[in-house]
Amino acid sequence: MQWAEELVRWRRELHQIPELAFAEHDTQAYLKAELDRLGIDYRPIAGTGLVAEVSGTSKGPLVAVRADMDALPLEEQSGEPFASRNPGRMHACGHDGHMAIALGLAARLVQERSFAGRVRLLFQPAEESPPGGALTMIQQGALEGVASILGLHLWSTDPLGVVGIRPGPIMANADQFRIVIVGQGGHGSAPQETRDAVLVAAETVVNLQTIVSRRLSPLEPAVVTCGTLHAGQVFNVIAGTAEITGTVRTLTETSRETVEAAMRQIVEGTAAMHGARAEFSYERGYPALVNHPEVVARWRQAIGDFAPVVECSPKMTGEDFSYYLQHRPGAYLFVGAQPTAQAFPHHSPQFRLNEAALPIGVEVLYRGVMAELAAFPPGLA
Ligand code: MN
Repeated sequence: MQWAEELVRWRRELHQIPELAFAEHDTQAYLKAELDRLGIDYRPIAGTGLVAEVSGTSKGPLVAVRADMDALPLEEQSGEPFASRNPGRMHACGHDGHMAIALGLAARLVQERSFAGRVRLLFQPAEESPPGGALTMIQQGALEGVASILGLHLWSTDPLGVVGIRPGPIMANADQFRIVIVGQGGHGSAPQETRDAVLVAAETVVNLQTIVSRRLSPLEPAVVTCGTLHAGQVFNVIAGTAEITGTVRTLTETSRETVEAAMRQIVEGTAAMHGARAEFSYERGYPALVNHPEVVARWRQAIGDFAPVVECSPKMTGEDFSYYLQHRPGAYLFVGAQPTAQAFPHHSPQFRLNEAALPIGVEVLYRGVMAELAAFPPGLA
């Protein structure tokens, strides 16, 4: 693929200017300049996002492709010569690669111009930070006229070039919770005069782990993670309050509701058991990313024997691409981008991508887009 060097250049230049959610100003400017160079029209959307469009040679349906733009608040330790120039900011999830792939797809479409219909590229800000950028993109018309939408994620711990896809849920409902335990503080030598919030918090953390094991079917994937626990200030004082925060991941609405209800019961019950009380708040984040089976089937067939395709397990990560699929048919897949040296997980300061995955991503998307254009009647757009 002749764009391979361009893909690496785009990815590395974007990698050096990582920006956080809704602050992707330099990133937007960079994309504008490259789209100008390719002769592709665009308009700003959702503040720092862009909608670009490539028209084919004749009328036909409109198919969208989405690339996310934001980076993470991390100090890069990848050791790459093209590491972040922005202190405390890093493209540690591969969104730099996603943008490069979208540019590569656009470049190829412009060069060929041999298709009927239109392809819309959605450069979306703020995937990493709920409520995310997808909802604003949709509110501002990103999906108007769109017949179907495709997206992909490079994955640093999947073997290079292996495509993972599945019909139905492929990423999770990603929710967060906060628990405040209110007991009664007092002297460390006189527990009988107190309601020990540290004890209640410790039991709460342990008891919450029974939800996945005892409340849900063993065949129903779910995660309950307590990410923080704060209580107490002095070694010889019994703490009167404690705070726990964490995240819940599920794949269906039913299990999402089951977990929330069970959490409330356990949190309030555990506190009551010790004469304390607890405040429980549960906030829903991105919904599960649910692939449309007919689009998955078309995309798999279109990839053919270009790359090995496996029916992957869902990942319990969150993704606001899910919102697009609540409005339009579409699908999302993973492209393995494991480095030849050691692989580090996404969101690690040592995260690295295998850039050989970039042209593979372009080809996979190109084939999916062509299959979608062929699947809808020409008069649709
Ligand atoms: Mn990501």
